[in-house]
Amino acid sequence: MALGNVNLTPQLVQAVRDAADIVTIAGDHTRLKKAGRRYQGLCPLHKEKTPSFSVDPVQGLFYCFGCGQGGDAIKLHMLTTGDDFPAAIESLAGRFGIPLPRRDRHSAREGRDGREGRDIAGALAAAADYFAGELRRSSFALAYLEKRRIPGDLITRFGLGYAPDSWDGLRTALTGKVPLADLEAAGLVGRSARSGDPYDRFRHRLMFPIHNPAGRLVGFGGRTLGDDKAKYVNTAETDQFHKGNLLYGLHLAKREIRESGRAVLVEGYFDVIGTVASGLEGAVAGMGTALTPEQARLLSRYAETVVVAYDGDAAGEGAFRRALPLLLAERLGVRRARFGQGHDPDSLRLAEGPEAVGRAIDGAEDGVLLEMERLIPKDAARDPHQTAAAGAAVRQLVGVVADPVARHNYLRRAAERLGIAEKVFLAQLAERRPGTPGPAAPAPSGPGEAARPAGIVRSLEERVLERLLNGVGVPARDELPVAEVFLDPQCRNIYQVFCTLYGDGRSGDSPPDVREVLAGLGSRGELIDRMAQILVEAPFGSKELEDLETAPVGPPRGEGEPVVSDLLAELGRRFQEKRLRELAGEIGEAQRRGGDDALLTRLYDEKRRLSLSFHRRPGSGAGRGAG
Ligand SMILES: [Zn+2]
Repeated sequence: MALGNVNLTPQLVQAVRDAADIVTIAGDHTRLKKAGRRYQGLCPLHKEKTPSFSVDPVQGLFYCFGCGQGGDAIKLHMLTTGDDFPAAIESLAGRFGIPLPRRDRHSAREGRDGREGRDIAGALAAAADYFAGELRRSSFALAYLEKRRIPGDLITRFGLGYAPDSWDGLRTALTGKVPLADLEAAGLVGRSARSGDPYDRFRHRLMFPIHNPAGRLVGFGGRTLGDDKAKYVNTAETDQFHKGNLLYGLHLAKREIRESGRAVLVEGYFDVIGTVASGLEGAVAGMGTALTPEQARLLSRYAETVVVAYDGDAAGEGAFRRALPLLLAERLGVRRARFGQGHDPDSLRLAEGPEAVGRAIDGAEDGVLLEMERLIPKDAARDPHQTAAAGAAVRQLVGVVADPVARHNYLRRAAERLGIAEKVFLAQLAERRPGTPGPAAPAPSGPGEAARPAGIVRSLEERVLERLLNGVGVPARDELPVAEVFLDPQCRNIYQVFCTLYGDGRSGDSPPDVREVLAGLGSRGELIDRMAQILVEAPFGSKELEDLETAPVGPPRGEGEPVVSDLLAELGRRFQEKRLRELAGEIGEAQRRGGDDALLTRLYDEKRRLSLSFHRRPGSGAGRGAG
């Protein structure tokens, strides 16, 4: 999505980076604890049980040593919301009060929300306000919520609203505020097929705002309060609103889900609210359709286990059986809550009280075992054909279970129930026909496993940069070596920006701090990410972190750590050695070719100078003049 209406100047990007509070942004997605000057928590970017995510508010950087992701506030916003860079700038600017320089009005709406320049987000937000206001005014709708015993704080929390029984209530209320075309693009206003006249699509309905996982309003669901045959209606699909990719309530539940590891998957919007009203957080619902693989994947970003709390009727059982393999395929544990007598969580709460819902969900049983019981009837072992059919069905189900130990356990129990020897059953599994699902291969190792191990070995160049950027023992500007002594291109680029800022006299003689270097890097995202890694990376409980906790400012310090001038000297020596080896080759080559005495003289001269400085004592600015 191109941001058509905002000029993305470097000044704007920097203003946003300075204003955006990285702790606030991280706090939307994970609970942070203060440790020294930093904050730690469970990583919002990968699933984990022990915290490896670290945020430094002073530097404005984050890093996760579990998955290796790091960067500034803009990057964190992009990774947690899915926004692209321009959308991130716009969103953060709005949130942290940076005015956006607008282009002229003609180009202003182009490209927004990808629909010929319509401002869908603006239309949805205005509609949400309108619906909420109408709910407060409608004694009928309030009485309905009262009857369903929805507490007032949950009406607010879920942003419930009411679309009055009118063909033009929304349009009239928003005249002059939101263009009609925007309301149409957002799926809030339709057109009569006969006359072409516009009309409000939601009439006499209780309105449920629907958000994406990042918490952005993307559409509405509306439940009729009259006798409309369509009990529930959603806004039309837009670029932002794909029913199959959304889970109702996830933006409110995700933190709880990540912390408890458990999500409660229910069928309807009222079930989500009813489950929360029963004192259980972490409830989400599909969007009135069968669970999709995308929704299962979305859940797996937050949950370890999913309690399926669908209705106890035949439709609910069928939906559970379709959802089960999708959830298992995402390495989720699956449990099935039973409500009895055709209840769902909300109706059970109304009939037997909130404790009954809690008991049903806490007492949920293993979903695979339940399904195995259904697939293998009690007397299956007596009929060889039934045994074979049941065995095949179980193998197909259990084949999706990713964890080998769990898988083996299920198969052992199935063999028992089928009355066949475990060995025989497992052997059959091995020779299954091609095309039938077998045991899932171990999932590819996550980015966390690819990232560096907890015992971090920093390169010499990273150690130098960490100290320079933290302003520890930085030599005078003219004692710094040339940038070529850094062989890692990213480190070299960061160092170059550091040196340029150091020399420009903008802050007297003092070296630039982290924020200034970040500003100097502008939009060079990969360099900012690398800086975050260098500066924030530190495993919890490590010596480095303990040091950080006792020393509120400054870099991690260890006993006997070399000072920066020694490290720089080592860099210089390493560069000289490399250059001397190259020179030897170049001299040999020039001698072979012959005829270019000037070149040979120049090469010999460089070699002599290098050799001389190479044997000077360390720490005496050996790197200088090496290039
Ligand atoms: Zn992570």
